[in-house]
Amino acid sequence: MSENKNIQNRRAFLKLSLLGSAIGATQVLGSEETRVLRQATHQELKENFPNSKRIKTICTHCSVGCGIIAEVVDGIWVRQEVAQDHPVSQGGHCCKGADMIDRVRSTTRLRYPIEKVNGVWQKTSWDSSMDKIAKKITEVREKYGPDSIMLIGSAKVSNEQSYYVRKFAAFLGTNNIDHQARI
Ligand code: SF4
Repeated sequence: MSENKNIQNRRAFLKLSLLGSAIGATQVLGSEETRVLRQATHQELKENFPNSKRIKTICTHCSVGCGIIAEVVDGIWVRQEVAQDHPVSQGGHCCKGADMIDRVRSTTRLRYPIEKVNGVWQKTSWDSSMDKIAKKITEVREKYGPDSIMLIGSAKVSNEQSYYVRKFAAFLGTNNIDHQARI
C-alpha cells in the first residue's frame, strides 16, 4: 500500500470515530452495541473539520500532562493532535495519550459510581458511595487500628493530589502510604 493510501486510510479512521456519534451514522461498522463508526465521505476527507474549534488541553492519563490539541465540533470532541509547542511534551506523547479521545468518548467509560448488590452491579450516587466508603474505613480503623490501612498513590496523581493523600494518611494516623509502582 502506498504512503498516500496509508495516510488516507488513517484519516478515514479518525473521521469515522467522530462522525458516528456526532452526526449519526448511516453506514455503520460493528455490532449494535458498538455502532460508533462509519466510513468518512470523500468530502469529509477533503475538508478537515473546517468549523472545528481547536482547544489546547492536556492528557489526563498520567501526571506528566502532555499537551493535546482537541478539535471540537458542536461540543463533540472529534479529533486530537499533539500540541507541538507544549513545554513538557514538546510535540510528543506516548501510546496511552495518543488515543485519549477514544478513552474519553468510550461507550464503556464509567461515568458514575456503581455498587455490587447481590452479585449485580448497580448504579449508585456519589453521596451514598462516599458515605459507605467512609463508614467502612472508620470501622476498619476502629477495629484493627490505623496501621491496618494503606494508601496507594498512582501515576495519575498530581503533586497537589499527592499532598492531600499524604495529609489524609496523617489524619488517619498511619504512615502506610506509597506509590503504585512500588507494588
Ligand atoms: S499518559 Fe503518555 S501522553 Fe498522557 S500524559 Fe502520560 S506520558 Fe503524556
